[in-house]
Amino acid sequence: MPEPVVHIEGVQELARDVVVIPNRQVQLVPNIGIIGGGHSVLVVETGMGPRNAEKVLEFAADFAKGRKLYLTTTHFHPEHAFGAQVFAGGATFLVNREQAEDLKVKGPGYLEMFKGLGEPVARQLEGVELAEPDVVFDQEYDLDLGGRMVQLRATGRAHSKGDQVVKVPDADVLFTGDLAEAGQFAIFPWFPPYDTDVSGTRWLAVMQRLAAEGARVVVPGHGEVGGPQLLADVRDYLELLRDETWVRRDSAVSEQTIVEEISALMIQRHPEWAGQEWIEKGVGCLCSEHPA
Ligand SMILES: [Zn+2]
Repeated sequence: MPEPVVHIEGVQELARDVVVIPNRQVQLVPNIGIIGGGHSVLVVETGMGPRNAEKVLEFAADFAKGRKLYLTTTHFHPEHAFGAQVFAGGATFLVNREQAEDLKVKGPGYLEMFKGLGEPVARQLEGVELAEPDVVFDQEYDLDLGGRMVQLRATGRAHSKGDQVVKVPDADVLFTGDLAEAGQFAIFPWFPPYDTDVSGTRWLAVMQRLAAEGARVVVPGHGEVGGPQLLADVRDYLELLRDETWVRRDSAVSEQTIVEEISALMIQRHPEWAGQEWIEKGVGCLCSEHPA
């Protein structure tokens, strides 16, 4: 596994005063957003661990040029949120309530699990202390950056229990976190009995809504920034995954056979997508959600 390091390189301007530090296709590095307004700047995602987050904070402070800093994260997973401690004192950290609970309840377990993913990941996680958010809101929060409102919107359980999306309406930019990825199969963190929060059916419902709303610019959790088609692609994948799983479940096909058949089908359909191992997890999740 390559070193999950954030490089402040190839920073893309998506709209006036809205940029993304791209993940450059490096696994366990998220796309990181920075959104500016008249008096404040919001950072979306921290990168994994304090050393990555320090780089992000330094870049954000430079970008802000004295404006007040805020931080939010799309969900509690380590590469998205496990650098928040670095922002303490320098930025106001705000998240939706279910994400705050995820961070508190599941954060320590994920820290240990991710340290087990290999030396490069463990190195970046060294010194992580799980941060306490400064502001916790229920479902929605409208953040005034000065002449620009940003909408933080919890979606309800989907990729995790506490997902949220971040919208910049005046620029029509949407940060989806891991609800949408570009160039890879949807990440189902389906690890029974330890973690079964991911829900294929709820995730599909969220993507149906997001795809219907659309956005000019869509920043996925990982992979290249795209347009509204990216939302439709994830929706269509999840829908097909559900339908193909359930139709086999209806005829009492074994889960192992379903995994084999659907993996072959999906790889044939999306030969260029990475993360083929997530298809099996998705099938497992949707089998558990099959209406008996
Ligand atoms: Zn995630």
